Amino acid sequence: MKTDILVIGSGIAGLYLAIKASEFANVVIITKKEKAESNTNYAQGGIASVLSPTDSFEKHVKDTMMAGDGLCDKKIVEKIVKNGPRHIQELINLGVNFSKVKNGEKLDLTREGGHTEHRVVHVKDFTGKEIENNLLNAVNNRPNIKVYENHVAINLKVKNNACLGCYVYDRMKNEVYNLSAKITILATGGAGKVYLYTSNPDIASGDGIAMAYRAGATIKNMEFFQFHPTCLYHPYAKSFLISEAVRGEGGVLKTISGKEFMDNYHEMASLAPRDIVARAIDNELKKSGDEHVCLDITFKDADFVKKRFPNIYKKCMEFGIDMTKDPIPVVPAAHYCCGGVKTDINGTTDIENLFVIGESGSTGLHGANRLASNSLLEALVVSNNCSEVCQSIIKSNPTIQEFEPWEEGNAVDSNENVVVTNNWDEIRRLMWNYVGIVRSNKRLARAKKRITNLQEEINEYYWDFKITPDLIELRNIATLAEVIIDSAIMRKESRGIHFNLDFPDKLKEIKDTLIKKRV
Ligand SMILES: Cc1cc2nc3c(=O)[nH]c(=O)nc-3n(C[C@H](O)[C@H](O)[C@H](O)COP(=O)(O)OP(=O)(O)OC[C@H]3O[C@@H](n4cnc5c(N)ncnc54)[C@H](O)[C@@H]3O)c2cc1C
Repeated sequence: MKTDILVIGSGIAGLYLAIKASEFANVVIITKKEKAESNTNYAQGGIASVLSPTDSFEKHVKDTMMAGDGLCDKKIVEKIVKNGPRHIQELINLGVNFSKVKNGEKLDLTREGGHTEHRVVHVKDFTGKEIENNLLNAVNNRPNIKVYENHVAINLKVKNNACLGCYVYDRMKNEVYNLSAKITILATGGAGKVYLYTSNPDIASGDGIAMAYRAGATIKNMEFFQFHPTCLYHPYAKSFLISEAVRGEGGVLKTISGKEFMDNYHEMASLAPRDIVARAIDNELKKSGDEHVCLDITFKDADFVKKRFPNIYKKCMEFGIDMTKDPIPVVPAAHYCCGGVKTDINGTTDIENLFVIGESGSTGLHGANRLASNSLLEALVVSNNCSEVCQSIIKSNPTIQEFEPWEEGNAVDSNENVVVTNNWDEIRRLMWNYVGIVRSNKRLARAKKRITNLQEEINEYYWDFKITPDLIELRNIATLAEVIIDSAIMRKESRGIHFNLDFPDKLKEIKDTLIKKRV
């Protein structure tokens, strides 16, 4: 297949870019499962933007920089923040029906942790779904955008440091084909699946970051992985977030035996900031060996709980947990990848004609910790800018270059898929245990040793057997695990969400962690 612009991923970043780029080019979007399946679809809280008269760009910039703990790029923060209101309006024009107050006259702006003002626009508690649906509708109405579901990007094709497109696995036909493009855009989202517990859906295996790394792009600040303190713990509940609002309404964290513990960690107890709560739960679990802690809101009026948290109540009931009577079992979970492929504010990477947008990219907005609801904002602004750069490239009339087909050599069908499953599990567990919320030099060294062995095993397996989507993802989470471990080892301090017991203080010199593979 050939196209002007190839977009890999159908979350907010990929879809918004495709809509803009369809004004001047033919666009192909490939997406590895059903088109709505993305982190975007599960975003609950909303989008941060300066929209109230009491708020200001300066305040939003300041809050973002405060969360980022010295590592944000101020110029990037300013540009992204200032462009927020414009893109919120564009989403409204595309049909996104944000929640309103005052008989529908004003947007309902909520406040989240780390924000000094009410500035989060939302659609009840399903903002992401509403955005995803409206963007998909807009895409469907544009004939020069083609969407291919169940098409998995395997590897980028880069020649003389220019991207020519990628190899794609078609899950329905079970075959690999070449997709050549003038411009290739990675919008593949986050990488929560690298960890045992995550709020992310299954698609979040960091494929784009891994592909860009293998192709020689610079990867930045991967040690900064944000953990959400409370994800539902149940063998069949894969990734359901229990919103911070439950603690906001008085929910108390307790051990399985019913002992409150947050008083020992912070004066605000269960209402302490996100990373402190995540660290405290991690510590309690390590001390007790328990599988989870509990979030107790049973003392509140049952009708209030059901009305205030209809989604959470419904989801918990599906697993036989009545949150009005039983404490909810929770664990912290990997939530947001603050690092990614190093880009500028247009998504430009150090490989020609390869752009990275959304959660896979790292512009410098988040620094060492992301301010809540800034990620959807970043995805919008960077996608928009990226489309403008694409327009000037397309105007210069570049040619599409074909490349050699995928080589599987003598690969045969695997009769031992259990190896893939075991390796998946081992990586996610070792990342959780050794490279999680609280790190130490010893734990990181242990993780490095294990991932090196696993990588050897996976590489053997990868070339001996025909590829499958599971194998593609396994290779990617292994690559990302290694990059995260290496980045964490390189940072000899504790900063933002990277906490190392052996380096509890901050260094005077503030710098990004950059990792680049020699190709
Ligand atoms: C539970 C939850 C709640 C959140 N709440 C908020 C919030 O309130 N506010 C906020 O700002 N942020 C929130 N976030 C973060 C935010 O949702 C994400 O950062 C953002 O949606 C990422 O958008 P994206 O377009 O970069 O990636 P995604 O939306 O994840 O889309 C990635 C796309 O790439 C595709 N893909 C991946 N790999 C491949 C491959 N190899 N081949 C083909 N396709 C591929 C996927 O199938 C998917 O379509 C939340 C995240 C989660 C998980």
